[in-house]
Amino acid sequence: SMPIIYFVTPTYARSVQMAELTRLGQTLSSVPALHWILVEDASKCNPMVGQLLRRLGIPFTHLASEMPAAYKKLKTPPRGVSNRRAALKWIRRNVKQGVLYFGDDDNSYDLRLFEEIRDTRNISMFPVGLIGDYAVSAPVVHDGKVVGFYDSWPAGRRFAVDMAGFAVNIQLLHQFPNATFIYQAGFEEDSFLQDIVTNADFIEAKAANCTEILVWHTRTVQVPAVILQPPTQTLTETSI
Ligand code: UDP
Ligand code: MN
Repeated sequence: SMPIIYFVTPTYARSVQMAELTRLGQTLSSVPALHWILVEDASKCNPMVGQLLRRLGIPFTHLASEMPAAYKKLKTPPRGVSNRRAALKWIRRNVKQGVLYFGDDDNSYDLRLFEEIRDTRNISMFPVGLIGDYAVSAPVVHDGKVVGFYDSWPAGRRFAVDMAGFAVNIQLLHQFPNATFIYQAGFEEDSFLQDIVTNADFIEAKAANCTEILVWHTRTVQVPAVILQPPTQTLTETSI
């Protein structure tokens, strides 16, 4: 039988949230053998999000884990770290085998991505479109091996990889029980990968030796929502 993909999505309340989760959920509905772990950056689970999950009819786990207050005050808060950590904890407790992927709620996923990552033996890597000033972040592959990274923000990282650019066999989570994400914006991926990559030869290049883009780091423009932020001015209505 096929390995199950555990798709971990951190999410938070804002005007576009239900639109993002509906679109992502309907993408995931087309993927066989997938379990969606949706973790809200909140003190408790939003029932409206729970309703969507049940309506989709796919296997899911709905969790909540709020960013600690001290990090919210930072100029660039580490987004999605508390929730991804909660997902790691849940997986370590409940799952023995399968493939782990971190898919943010606003990215765009080609369905072929899922079949690429499903047979990840250790760690697989692949390009992510629409990242940084080069419009792509991609592993550099030589003779079938990942030898470096093409990324406009190296920042001294050993693994200059976006969150959406790698998948991990869950056996590694058990092999490295302390592997985690640090609370430092921009360095989350590198910290986690440094914890689990003992030998760069274990990295598997996917997406036709990293020549294809199967996931994009799209970002959605936020629209003002009166429900989240009551306007001070009078609302305008027109009639026909
Ligand atoms: N996120 C979160 N809490 C926040 C901000 C973001 O849980 O306070 C989630 C968000 O829903 C997304 C991920 O963390 O799945 C990355 O956030 P975002 O897309 O804003 O970051 P970017 O892609 O712009 O770096
Ligand atoms: Mn994003």
